[in-house]
Amino acid sequence: MTLPFPAAGLGNLGGMDLSLSQEESEIRDWVRTFVDKEIIPLEQTVLERERRNERGLTIEELRGLQAKARESGFFGVQTPEEYGGMGLGGVMGALIEAELGRSFVQFKFGGDADNILFHANEEQKATYLVPTIEGEKISCFAITEPGAGSDARNLRTTAVRDGDEWVINGEKTFITSGDVADFCLVFAVTDKEKGANGGVTCFLADRETGWTSAEIPTMGQWGPASLSFQDVRVPHSAILGEEGRGFELAMKWIGKGRYLLPARALGACERLVEMGMEHARNRVTFGAPIAERQAIQWMIADSAVEIEALRWLVLQAAWLVDQGVDSRQAQSMAKLYGGVKANEIVDRVLQIHGGMGYTRELPVERWYRELRVLRIYEGTDEIQRRTIARNLLAGHASIRGHLG
Ligand SMILES: Cc1cc2nc3c(=O)[nH]c(=O)nc-3n(C[C@H](O)[C@H](O)[C@H](O)COP(=O)(O)OP(=O)(O)OC[C@H]3O[C@@H](n4cnc5c(N)ncnc54)[C@H](O)[C@@H]3O)c2cc1C
Repeated sequence: MTLPFPAAGLGNLGGMDLSLSQEESEIRDWVRTFVDKEIIPLEQTVLERERRNERGLTIEELRGLQAKARESGFFGVQTPEEYGGMGLGGVMGALIEAELGRSFVQFKFGGDADNILFHANEEQKATYLVPTIEGEKISCFAITEPGAGSDARNLRTTAVRDGDEWVINGEKTFITSGDVADFCLVFAVTDKEKGANGGVTCFLADRETGWTSAEIPTMGQWGPASLSFQDVRVPHSAILGEEGRGFELAMKWIGKGRYLLPARALGACERLVEMGMEHARNRVTFGAPIAERQAIQWMIADSAVEIEALRWLVLQAAWLVDQGVDSRQAQSMAKLYGGVKANEIVDRVLQIHGGMGYTRELPVERWYRELRVLRIYEGTDEIQRRTIARNLLAGHASIRGHLG
């Protein structure tokens, strides 16, 4: 049977190739070696420090590791080359993130900045974007408020114009890096009537403008912070992008790298299952290694299947990003599945380790606590499900995926 017209476009099965290019493999292998040689050996120290309630990796140590990577040209993974970055795409970004995820040590390569800072004007770029890329300044992204999390449109923080300045009042919460940031990208209502439909503006506010922060202890190791704005004055020139267009920028920030979170989880799951298998081979009960028991084998098998499914959800979402087409449905699916499955897998691996899994001698309990947040931030499980179902019901996405 001949097709009435040639298969073409994204769903071109004739063009389907699920292997990595040589360049992709080489970069991935370089990161894998870096993680094995430079990051994993730090894990014991990090665990000991965290047990003493200290930061696992100091900012100086992080910078030192980043500098080492930069010597080999590894800097700004997805930052455009004109800003000194590597300008790598979504698939490569996901592969790199998965390698970094193999360690719970919170390492990231230097040289990146919030994607929406690229919307800055030339002066703002020089003041905020370039120093952030260079690691001289730390930013934080502040949209969530006590009354506006999943329901982000319900912002209450206000910014009122006073001559050539804006006066910001409000509270932000759960802001990653909020306690160490030099400046924040803060979202405030500038037109109550319009609200999130053209009445929210993003401001670049230096810490010196007077906002304060307080760390929020969490069950993971990286405490976000609450930010307080009380009559904080910023110049009109502090607006990022256009007045009233802030909500779109916020959605752009959140939407940019949703596939990168489950990519990191993918690496964690791979390492965890490797640890589980190692333990299962060595732990003998009733005269045989537990690896020979069906109960343990099923946990390993189920985890392996789910890891494989997660890998392809992540890579498909990343690939759609690289194609420049709408990847939101795929990203939501990868984020949802990654969060749910990473939590199930770490639980199984903890179970395989028995009592040892529950102790702080091993990093399993550390991961168990850390991975939980994946089901909450950058869109909870429930919000991802809501998005996925709505896209399908409204006909914006097909149940047959991108192949149609
Ligand atoms: C460690 C950490 C770091 C964070 N970093 C940042 C950051 O850098 N910047 C920032 O702005 N924010 C940040 N956040 C905030 C994060 O994005 C929010 O916590 C998240 O969006 C959920 O909002 P919420 O906590 O207000 O929960 P809520 O929105 O109150 O949700 C509570 C529960 O109700 C469910 N729910 C809500 N609405 C619906 C619905 N319509 N249908 C069904 N179920 C629903 C939720 O899924 C959840 O289970 C961070 C949070 C954490 C924990």
